Amino acid sequence: MVRSQTSEHAQRARSAVQELLLLNHPVDCPICDQAGECRLQDYWLEHQAKKKRMADEPIHKPKGVVFGPTIVYDAERCIMCTRCIRVSAEVAQDPVLSMRERGNLNEIVVAPGRQLDHAYTLMTEYVCPVGALTSSDFRFKARVWFLRSARTTCVGCATGCSSYTDFDPRNQKVYRYRPRENAAVNKYWMCDEGMLDYQRIHEERVLAPRIKREPVSAAAALEKAAEIIKQSAPQKTAILLSAEHSNEDNTALLELGKALGALSVFYTGKPEGQGDDILRSADKNPNTAGVLAVSGGKAKPFAELLAALRDGKVTTLLALGSQVSTGSTPPELKDAKNLVALSTHEGPLASQAAVVLPASSWAESDGTFVNRQHLAQESDRAITPQAESLPAYRWVLALAKALGLSLSWKKLSELQSAGRVESAASPVAAPAPGVSG
Ligand code: SF4
Ligand code: SF4
Repeated sequence: MVRSQTSEHAQRARSAVQELLLLNHPVDCPICDQAGECRLQDYWLEHQAKKKRMADEPIHKPKGVVFGPTIVYDAERCIMCTRCIRVSAEVAQDPVLSMRERGNLNEIVVAPGRQLDHAYTLMTEYVCPVGALTSSDFRFKARVWFLRSARTTCVGCATGCSSYTDFDPRNQKVYRYRPRENAAVNKYWMCDEGMLDYQRIHEERVLAPRIKREPVSAAAALEKAAEIIKQSAPQKTAILLSAEHSNEDNTALLELGKALGALSVFYTGKPEGQGDDILRSADKNPNTAGVLAVSGGKAKPFAELLAALRDGKVTTLLALGSQVSTGSTPPELKDAKNLVALSTHEGPLASQAAVVLPASSWAESDGTFVNRQHLAQESDRAITPQAESLPAYRWVLALAKALGLSLSWKKLSELQSAGRVESAASPVAAPAPGVSG
């Protein structure tokens, strides 16, 4: 019989390997960003749990080496597992990292003349089991044991990678995203753009209701919005849905549009960006498929709204979202007098609106997003709505009340069943790569 776990011999061998791994390792856990989620700490406790015997000065190696715009390397903490090398070569398809020297002098290096600057650099930090690779964005910002995690979906593009949103409940601030395993979408990975997209939760936000750029009370903003909508003919009132927002927010606005008798429905979102064959989609919106599905395919592109505004066919616009697919503000929006916007962020819609209602971001509300594979994925709320913001569907409900209209739903769960889009669960066209070993 072979006893690999409980025999004294096996335990002694594991302890010896652990001691070797830590022979030259600095004991700087109190200032190391990996502390609290370091496998080396866990293994030390499991297999060694005693002081090392070597009394000599450990070998010193380069520290604080800037590998590129996002990653800093500490060779003394590195255990030479080569995961970062393989992630760069096999996931990002850019073999920019390698190992040099032997034994005690081993270290990870960037190819001469290069930086670690591909689109998946943060995945090297993510797979690093120790604190050797740290992200310039997250290092020294938070201790991980204070953070809590919500199960979310990345809203950085139409791929809809499964993620964790790590936030500090004490100050209701989001500190980072991490990939969440999902074999059908992103396997174990996220791109840098998506990983850093959490920053937008706290940047450039619309945080108070306003009329013509002046902050006002919620009641005053709702009253003004209702006045604008009431004085417009329903056939000249249009609804603008947003591929940045969840099915729930879009369904709520559609229902209000129907109750108003508004005939025209359009949609917009962030402009296109760069995609690749690994994960990233050129469509930088998380819910284009969802918007088209909940509107029964009736939502028309933004260019058609601009034409209708030019021709005077639309004079009043009730808009969800912050950005528009043209990028900058089109002249037609500058001329729009009757624009009511439900926006999370400053942008072309909030800047031109007669009334702005501050919408909560994706991190402050539960929501469903349908990705490019037509997979409907739920994203849980992480933090409470910032300042005076409310989830957009709650503003819609309040606006309906101000207009004297009643909608068919009162709660999020009722809205969710109204806007339910069955997941097509289609096979993934190009599966996200794994990494060997
Ligand atoms: S993943 Fe971390 S520990 Fe492993 S070789 Fe790379 S830097 Fe070193
Ligand atoms: S590929 Fe898209 S969904 Fe995935 S992490 Fe990047 S931005 Fe987010």
